[in-house]
Amino acid sequence: MSFFPSAVLPDLRLLFPPPFVYVICGVLGAIIGSFLNVVIHRLPLEESVVFPDSRCPSCGAVIAFYDNIPVLSYVVLRARCRKCREAISLRYPAVELMSAALFMAVAWRDGLSYALPFDLVFVSALVALIFIDAEHMILPNAITYPGIVFALVARLAIPYLMGQPHFDDLAPLMNATLAGMPMWAASLIGGLLGALVGGGSLWLMGWTWEKLRGVEAMGLGDVKMMFMVGAYLGWRLTILTIFFGVLSGSVIGTLLMLREGKRNMQMLLPFGVFLGIGAILAVLVGAPIVEWYAGQFR
Ligand SMILES: [Zn+2]
Repeated sequence: MSFFPSAVLPDLRLLFPPPFVYVICGVLGAIIGSFLNVVIHRLPLEESVVFPDSRCPSCGAVIAFYDNIPVLSYVVLRARCRKCREAISLRYPAVELMSAALFMAVAWRDGLSYALPFDLVFVSALVALIFIDAEHMILPNAITYPGIVFALVARLAIPYLMGQPHFDDLAPLMNATLAGMPMWAASLIGGLLGALVGGGSLWLMGWTWEKLRGVEAMGLGDVKMMFMVGAYLGWRLTILTIFFGVLSGSVIGTLLMLREGKRNMQMLLPFGVFLGIGAILAVLVGAPIVEWYAGQFR
């Protein structure tokens, strides 16, 4: 039984050939990247991300639409404000290019499917969290709270749009523990289980660190971020996310300590950055890795 009988859903792949999809997703990624730059700049200052026009952070001049074209304007203006000639941060074209590349990678992973828009929203939220955490060491509730709601909505809708196998935790749940339960309920419980695994392990890591070292290691931002990631990805891909996050965080952390010396041993790493990278990797390449790993025990 399905809310959306499959006869109603056209096969989008027949309407749009893949190269066309990649180009559209690349352009869309650059445009969304441009909006994410606004989010990254304004959210930590608690400014509206919708209302005031884009302004030069140095001189306050309103940026005309033709100076606000992703990547191209940065090149044309040679990285300087048209009015005051102050340098424009490299972060702007970097976020736009990264988002474009990421959107194309997600399109490659998903194909043109009803899961694609959900995954694009999810990775966009992660990009914003990564850059805000890198600069300000915070993961704003304004992203993580709606992110948790979004993840739960995706949990309800995607199995009916994509079929039950889309979430790798759904079939085992429905076949065993939750047999006889409707798909939406099992999917939602899968999401809550993922949130518990993600948020719970981060909370436990912070608590353990605090007991061992007597210093606060992690804010609740990481816990909320992993509630969102866990609800969306399910418990298996969430464990992989944390694994990727800890691995990349230790490598970068060790390299930084070697370079900076012992005086920065207490330096806090923005762990949300590494969890975000881990979650993006889990979206792109997680499913085959989890399958392979689970296969080792069969
Ligand atoms: Zn300026």
